Parts: sequence; C-alpha cells; structure tokens
Amino acid sequence: MIDFRVPDEIQEAIEGLLRFVDQVVVPLEEEHRDLLEDGHRLYSRDGRLVAEAQQLMRQVRMASARAGQYNLFVPTELGGRGLGPIALYLVWEALYHHAGPGRLLPYQSLAHWTSGPGPHLRYLSQVARQEVLPGLLSGEKTACFALTEPGAGSDAWAIKTTARQDGDVWVLDGTKKWISNGPYADHALVFTVTDAEAASRRQGGISCFFVDASWPGYEVAEVLRIYGHVGGMEAVLRFSSLRVPGQRLVGELHKGFDIALQGVNTGRLYNCARAVGLSRWALERATRYAQERVAFGQAIAEYQGVQWLLADSAIETYAARMMGLNCAWRIEQGEPAVKETAIIKAFATEAGFRTIDRCMQVMGGVGLSNEARLYDAWHQLRTVRIADGSAEIMRRTIARRLLRGDLSF
Ligand SMILES: Cc1cc2nc3c(=O)[nH]c(=O)nc-3n(C[C@H](O)[C@H](O)[C@H](O)COP(=O)(O)OP(=O)(O)OC[C@H]3O[C@@H](n4cnc5c(N)ncnc54)[C@H](O)[C@@H]3O)c2cc1C
Repeated sequence: MIDFRVPDEIQEAIEGLLRFVDQVVVPLEEEHRDLLEDGHRLYSRDGRLVAEAQQLMRQVRMASARAGQYNLFVPTELGGRGLGPIALYLVWEALYHHAGPGRLLPYQSLAHWTSGPGPHLRYLSQVARQEVLPGLLSGEKTACFALTEPGAGSDAWAIKTTARQDGDVWVLDGTKKWISNGPYADHALVFTVTDAEAASRRQGGISCFFVDASWPGYEVAEVLRIYGHVGGMEAVLRFSSLRVPGQRLVGELHKGFDIALQGVNTGRLYNCARAVGLSRWALERATRYAQERVAFGQAIAEYQGVQWLLADSAIETYAARMMGLNCAWRIEQGEPAVKETAIIKAFATEAGFRTIDRCMQVMGGVGLSNEARLYDAWHQLRTVRIADGSAEIMRRTIARRLLRGDLSF
C-alpha cells in the first residue's frame, strides 16, 4: 500500500519545531531587528558576523537543544532523536516554507549535518566522542565540513591536504576553501591524503579527522563573500603542522572518501527540501500579490501571462516535492539511491531557482526589493546549483548510473 500521509511522529516534530520558531525565535528577532537587518552592523570589516550575532545564534541553538528540537536527525547512539531521511526531508521543507528566506536565526533551531553533530560522528572513538559531543549536542559549539580546496572542487579526489603520522599524532598541512560555517566553527571534519598513490588511483588513500579550531596550526585565513555581500558564511581554512591526536581519526584510515560521500548525499536531500520549502513560500506570496495588485483596471491575477508564471511554478514545485519524498523513502528503505539523489538535487534546485525568478517577475519591482526577501531565496538556490555537487556533476552521476545499467525508476 502506498500511504502519502505524514506519519504522526514526523508531524509532531514539525509542529514542535515551528512552534519553537514562533514562540522563541521570532521575539528574539524582533528585539534585535536593527542588528539582524543591517548588513553593515551584522558583519565586521573582516567579513565575520559580529560577536553579538554569533551569540544570538548560539542562544537559539542552545534553547532549541533544551527544548528537544535541535538534534532531530542525530543518530540515537550519539544522543539525538534519530529521525530518518523522510523526516529530514519533511522537517527541513517545513522550516524553509514557514520561515522563508533572508533570516539568520530560525535556521539555527535545527542541527545541520555539517555544522551540528552529524551522522559521521558515529565513526569517532569513544574518547573523542566524550570530548566533542556534549558541546555539539547542546548547540554551544558548531562544526564544519572541510573537503573542497582551491585546486579541488568537483574533482574531490584531487585534494592535496596531507596528514603525516608522527608517533601517536597526525600532522596536517594544506588549505581548504569554501567551507560553510568555517569562519565560526569550533571543530572541522577535515579530509586529507594519507596514501597519495592510492588517492591518485581513486581507490582509497583519503582519511578524515575531526579537529579543534583552537589547536595551534589551525587558521581561518579568509572569510569569503559572495553576491556583493559585506560578510560571509564561508571560509578559507589553512592548516600548518596542525597536530591531531590519533583518536581524532574518523572511521578507518584511508577510507575517508566514503564518509565524505555519505555526508554529501544527506546534503542533497536537504537541498531538495530547501528548494521546495522556499518555492512554496515564494509561490504563496506571489499568488497573493497577483490577486491584490491592480494594473489596467483589474488584478494582475486575471492576466493569463501572470497565471502561467504561477502555474509553471506550481507544476515544478509539486514535481520536486514528490521526487524528494520518493527519494527519501528509498534511502529510508536502505537503497543507496545514488541516481535518484543526484536527480532530485539537480531538478529541485534548478526548478526552485526558476520558481523564485518567476515569483519576482509576478511581483514586479516589489519582487526585487529587500523587503520581499525573494532575492535571498534566489541567491540560495543559485548557490546550490554549484555547491554540494554542481548541476553538471549531478548529470554526470545520473548518466554514469544509466550507462552502467541502472535504468530503474
Ligand atoms: C556557498 C558555497 C558553500 C560551500 N560549502 C562547502 C563546504 O561546507 N564544504 C566543502 O567541502 N565545500 C563546500 N563548497 C564547495 C563546493 O562543493 C564546490 O564549489 C563544488 O563542488 C564545485 O567546485 P568548484 O567551485 O571548484 O568548481 P569546479 O569543480 O572548478 O567546476 C567549475 C565548472 O566546471 C564544471 N565541471 C567540472 N567538472 C566537470 C565534468 N566532469 N563535467 C562537466 N562539467 C564539469 C562544473 O559543473 C562547474 O560548472 C561550497 C561552495 C559554495 C559556493
């Protein structure tokens, strides 16, 4: 039997989270509106969020953790609620749909797989878990996922950061680029080459370490800014003779690439949910606007030219949502769903970008205004056509699976 109802446990999780946003986060946003809505106050000259903004984010994370909302998708063995991929899809979609774009604090209510306690921490030793988990689960501390380098983006096997063994310690050297939450993270999951020959054959040789940003040799070398913004969330990280205790190896030596791929796949489901949630938020606003805005003596919603912009957006949003849910269900059944994960990531982010663009068109000049906040959804979905595996790399993955005989749907 195919049952499309949202299971009670997931519905309760969604309602609990959205209640938390409305009751705890919204009053905080209102109290600090002057800071949160003024980019020149929000960021310091080096591009980092000012300390007050970082403290507000921490406050939301910690309150959400105390309220039992923050760690919904963290495995139970690590101390989280352990909800699966269907919940991950539905809860993130609901949060983006509810909170919309252009807001910093609501998205701190839910641990993201890279900045919060991600599933990869299952592969940490017991000693290391005791050191890092309490801070991450309470929301006090955050992490980042450091794979990409200046010379290795889509081709992640080409990374050059090295880890060399020195007794019980590993010594890391190299540079990572475009690392989200990099300017603020207390820890980083760092992918390194430990066997250059195996890595050059793309057969292992990459190992993963969970390091502390406070250790000597760890440096946030630059905060990266995009779209002309005065500050940013991504960083260049530099490691110079960074000494890492052996117990901070994540998983098995030389087998870090598998951990990277698992993480990236979670990210693709999350990005599909984000695209659908933002599309739904935008489409509701554009539809209302079209009914209220009058031109040539009647509501613009009466014009077929406007109706088609809305209808095309609904078609694509519905398709992306169904794909996302089906893919989440497949992963929950234990399927690798490699082809499907690439399909939903490519389709939902491109369709979402087109939807936001159409909604801007429906809303005319207002659609471009800061107040409408559509520009932020547009930026987010434009970004995610490159980040987390570009649209071309998704198509490469899909085509490779097809050519290997995976023609199932
Ligand atoms: C805002 C942002 C946040 C990010 N966050 C993180 C993070 O937290 N952690 C992390 O490790 N990385 C992160 N990244 C990096 C991201 O994963 C890479 O940007 C992405 O993988 C693409 O790499 P690149 O930018 O080096 O582009 P390149 O790999 O140089 O690609 C350039 C162009 O060539 C195309 N291309 C490359 N190879 C092929 C091919 N075989 N076939 C067809 N076309 C191809 C690409 O699609 C793209 O259009 C982030 C990036 C951005 C922009």
